[in-house]
Amino acid sequence: MTEAANDFFSVEGISKSFEGVRAVDGCTFSIEEQSVVGLVGPNGAGKSTVFNLVTGFHKLDHGRVKFRGKDITGYPPDKTARQGIGRGFQIPRPFSALSVFENMIVSIPNQKRESWWRALYPFGKNPDEHHARERALDLLDKFGLYHLRNDKAATLSGGQKKLLDFAHVLMSRPSLVLLDEPAGGVNPKLQEAMTGFIHDLRSEGLTFLIVEHNLAFVDETCDTVIVMVEGKVMARGALSDVREIPSVRDAYMGSISKVDQKSTAVADTASETP
Ligand code: ADP
Ligand code: MG
Repeated sequence: MTEAANDFFSVEGISKSFEGVRAVDGCTFSIEEQSVVGLVGPNGAGKSTVFNLVTGFHKLDHGRVKFRGKDITGYPPDKTARQGIGRGFQIPRPFSALSVFENMIVSIPNQKRESWWRALYPFGKNPDEHHARERALDLLDKFGLYHLRNDKAATLSGGQKKLLDFAHVLMSRPSLVLLDEPAGGVNPKLQEAMTGFIHDLRSEGLTFLIVEHNLAFVDETCDTVIVMVEGKVMARGALSDVREIPSVRDAYMGSISKVDQKSTAVADTASETP
């Protein structure tokens, strides 16, 4: 599928092979500013690899990545983050020995050098550090993690690690947020709250690209979806429309119909490999 690139964000013909296996195979799509787009597809379709290519965790074999009219192809992760692209991980790996609050403050991609660790200590008088602390506490509150702020990240459940990962992405004030299965392991009440945050953040100007297997969550959260199969874009549109396309149904082997029962589609067993 080809599509005219828009000025906000686009990937054009991006490809990546691992030892001869084409994980992403000439993938092209664009995203409008202030949209919430789902990136869906069966396990191994190449969704996480697209994120890794866009954010510089993997080197592209071919293709271009553009953001706000600028060619950012091949930018390393820190430089991508400084452009305003934030990303979450399918399997978040917070610093286990640090507290939930400390995890919010460390490795904020946009933060000035050395600022993050100074922000951990109350004697920091720099207004940037003060704001980072305030923002961290505010986000932890929004994401239902405030009461756990002093607990070691190692003690969090899988769902709580997902919430922390999402909250941490927002610390750098990105304009484009890539989330990789944000609802995985998160209880339904917090999933609903997450949908609410995403919509609130969109109305503040943010744009989201969300990989998610839970199609009920996608249905509630995303305006449109891009369906990826075998490294390529197979379809794009409203979830209710694309799930009626026979080739999409075949690729999902029937699991896409589960959205009717508000249940989670196939669990993802693909490995996270940034
Ligand atoms: P999805 O996120 O859609 O489930 P992935 O992007 O994780 O799919 O994987 C796409 C394909 O690329 C799979 O066949 C996967 O095994 C392979 N793959 C992904 N990352 C690596 C890697 N670092 N090394 C080897 N193969 C990989
Ligand atoms: Mg994945």
